[in-house]
Amino acid sequence: MVVTQQGRPSPVMDAGPDPFVTAQRQFDIAAEFLNLDPGVRSILREVQRVLEVNFPVHMDDGSIEMFKGYRAQHNLHRGPTKGGIRYHPGVTLSEVKALSMWMTWKCAIFKLPYGGAKGGVVVDPRRLSQHELENLTRRFATEISVFIGPERDIPAPDVGTNAQTMAWIMDTYSMHKGYSVPAVVTGKPLSIGGSEGRNEATGRGVMIITIEALKHLDLDYQKATVAIQGFGNVGSHSARLLAKEGVKVVAVSDVTGGIYNPAGLNIPDVLRYVEEHGSLQGFRNAEYVTNAELLTLPVTVLIPAALENQITETNAGQVRARVITEAANGPVDPEADEILNDNGIFLLPDVLANAGGVTVSYFEWVQDLQNFFWSEKEIDQRLADIMRDSFRRVLAAKESHDVNMRLAAYILAVKTVSDASNARSIYP
Ligand code: NAD
Repeated sequence: MVVTQQGRPSPVMDAGPDPFVTAQRQFDIAAEFLNLDPGVRSILREVQRVLEVNFPVHMDDGSIEMFKGYRAQHNLHRGPTKGGIRYHPGVTLSEVKALSMWMTWKCAIFKLPYGGAKGGVVVDPRRLSQHELENLTRRFATEISVFIGPERDIPAPDVGTNAQTMAWIMDTYSMHKGYSVPAVVTGKPLSIGGSEGRNEATGRGVMIITIEALKHLDLDYQKATVAIQGFGNVGSHSARLLAKEGVKVVAVSDVTGGIYNPAGLNIPDVLRYVEEHGSLQGFRNAEYVTNAELLTLPVTVLIPAALENQITETNAGQVRARVITEAANGPVDPEADEILNDNGIFLLPDVLANAGGVTVSYFEWVQDLQNFFWSEKEIDQRLADIMRDSFRRVLAAKESHDVNMRLAAYILAVKTVSDASNARSIYP
């Protein structure tokens, strides 16, 4: 039996600081500000549970490949844990831990009764056939089944995974139980207990919060221009929904590079092109820009919607946007944060800006548990209300503490989680 090993880190993800160190540094700043009790502080700056799995998968050519995956649960004080599963060659334990911590803060800001979790498999999903992806997903779901469950830890899609991946996880888990358990994952297809509005929820949240920020800054959003890095689930829905509101999307990119038209891109055309060709490469009526160039275009709003560590000390000074909406998790590192802040850029932090996804995931979980489903209109309205309410609460914290939006969001989040931690105290 020949077994090969997957999992060489990709050059893209090797760049930049260690994500978990970044997450801890962001937490430390808020903990310091809140003068957090040292005991609670030492609990919250670590990840409570981590599972590493190494598992074989049958490939189409008859060979067997070994894959490595993780599931991290940062904090269980406020309820079950919740967070996506990522398939990407650059997945590392540090990245999964950071993403799980960010999920904790996001859920706390949005008053969702969850702690944060995240999972990932070191794999380039584009290299695998659909059959191999199904094998990989079912085996990974089996390996982490000791960790997940509707009352324990509820996965969702993230980079490289989608509704189909969630359907395979739901089916695998249900087969083991002997009955259907829709609430074990969110972001599923509608036919098996998914929610209306979930697929576009993160992008919808990004659109709502970006427009709220522009209004707050007295900028006419219908005159605003936007550049979006990443044209996957989050980036493409953000682009589509912003364009629908009359915002001019002038640049978008994917892993192959970007396209730029200062007069505005026709987003429905771009979506059709990507649907047909699989990427943005070769799209006409726009000039080619690299991903690095896209970040420094003269636009009103910059929306990083791909991966971590895209804006660092090296390029932060060249960012010309007035607003940054962090649709991706962790796209700006702490050094860049300071530079952007000094340059007067209004930054909507990831824990606030991209929480539309987990919010509608929460709606999906509630609907599954009740076996009672809501209309799309109801979902969109509830999402809009909760996004605007969270924006206003973070803005109020920013103004009352005279801090930036990231620290304001962290102050709310860390306070909420530390209150829960104190209330429960330490067992035994
Ligand atoms: P996705 O896999 O659907 O899309 C990722 C996009 O990024 C693709 O267009 C890909 O080509 C592009 N990309 C990959 N590597 C890149 C690189 N090096 N440079 C530029 N572009 C690159 O993933 P997604 O679900 O849209 O997630 C994007 C980001 O949003 C991630 O940070 C994720 O954690 C975050 N997020 C996703 C959700 C969700 O509901 N899917 C929710 C909250 C946050």
